[in-house]
Order: sequence, then structure tokens, then C-alpha cells
Amino acid sequence: MTCKSCNSEVNQNYCPNCGQPVKIPRITGRYVIGELQQEFQLEKGFLRTIRELAVKPGESIQSFIHDNRSRLIKPILFIIVTSLVYTIISHFFHIDDDYQKMEGVKESPFFVILKWVQENYGYANIIMGVFIALWIKLFFRKYKYNFFEILILLCFVMGMGMLVYSVFALIEGLTHIQLQTLGGLVGFIYTAWAIGQFFEKKSVANFFKAFIAYTLGWLTFLIAAVILTIILVSQGFLPAVNPG
Ligand SMILES: [Zn+2]
Repeated sequence: MTCKSCNSEVNQNYCPNCGQPVKIPRITGRYVIGELQQEFQLEKGFLRTIRELAVKPGESIQSFIHDNRSRLIKPILFIIVTSLVYTIISHFFHIDDDYQKMEGVKESPFFVILKWVQENYGYANIIMGVFIALWIKLFFRKYKYNFFEILILLCFVMGMGMLVYSVFALIEGLTHIQLQTLGGLVGFIYTAWAIGQFFEKKSVANFFKAFIAYTLGWLTFLIAAVILTIILVSQGFLPAVNPG
């Protein structure tokens, strides 16, 4: 017999090379119930994560990093799902389309990158998180958190930011009241508050440091995107004028 996964030769119950069982059980009611249970667990975990991050972001992310990985759902999954929620809402109500009407935007090669970001908010957020994490690492270096721990902090916090934007986008879509600026502001304040209190509760200085680090991270992300566009255009990967 050969393994269905890696084609190695197998004469036991499990593949000696990759561990794949030779015979997987048939799909039964038990399988369906098992999958449903996992689904409910994930849903419950998702709601609990939102509740904890809304009330005590610093404490619950600290606990995720140091003691208990099961109370919150996985941070990368969290930011991907929350970004997807925002993408669906903003597409449905055409929330992000305004800039497209601006003069010259569509003709700019930068539009391609902007479009990619809009279609991949989840991954774009993680890349942006890398830039912000570097600034936070610099601003909060005395706290001894490593780069990846800060990146995980950002996945949770920026994921919550996406949910804040989603709520405002939803209300704007339903009522046609312009709320994007307000939503952006609320999301931004939440982010700075959450990052600040992660490092030290009730420190006003930390709130402003987080605010500045976040802004600088966002700016460097933007600058890197512009530089990437210039390189791609100069190497002929992108047309200098976007045909739209
Ligand atoms: Zn195998």
C-alpha cells in the first residue's frame, strides 16, 4: 500500500513517514456532531474574545502570552476573521469607494496597491502590524517584550479596531450618516488605550506613546508601500499610468 498523503510505502496502520492513518473512519453522525461542537466552541471563544478585549484588553492579552492560550481565540485567526467582517460590510455598502472618485487616483500606479490592501485587509493588517510592532518595540523597550509578542498584541488590538470600523460602517450604510471619520477616531483611541494598558495600567504617558508609535507605524507602512510602487514601476512590473 502507499500513503494517500505522501505516497510512501506503508505496511502499518499509520504512515511511518508523515503519520497519516492508512484508513480514516467513514463520515457518520458522530463526525457531524463533533464538527458542530467544534464550531460552537469556536463561536463561543470568538464572542468571549471580543468581550474580554473590550473590557480589559491589556490583562487578557497578557494572560494569553504568559499563562493561558485557550481563553482567547488564536490572534491571527482573529484579525483575519474581523478583517473579513469589515471587508464584507464595506463592500456591501460601498463604504470605501469614495477615494476612487478623486481626481487622478485611478490612474496612479499606487491604486493597484491600494486595491490589494482593500481586498486583503487581513494580510494587509498583519503587514502593517509588523511596522507598528517595530515602533512599539522601540517606544516600550524597557518592558522586554519580544517583537512577536508585540505582533500578537497588535493582532488582537487591530482586530478589535476592525470590529469598531465594521459597526460604524454598518450604521453608516443603514442610515447614510457620514460616520467614517468618527469610527476611525474611536478605533484609534481604543487601539492606543489597549496598547498602553497592556504595558502598564492607567499610565497616561503610555497612552500617548502608543498613539505615536501606532501613527508612525502606519506612516512607515504607507511610505514602504509608496517605495514598493516606485520599485515595481521602475522594474516594469507595474505600468506608470494605471489604465484603470
Ligand atoms: Zn505519508
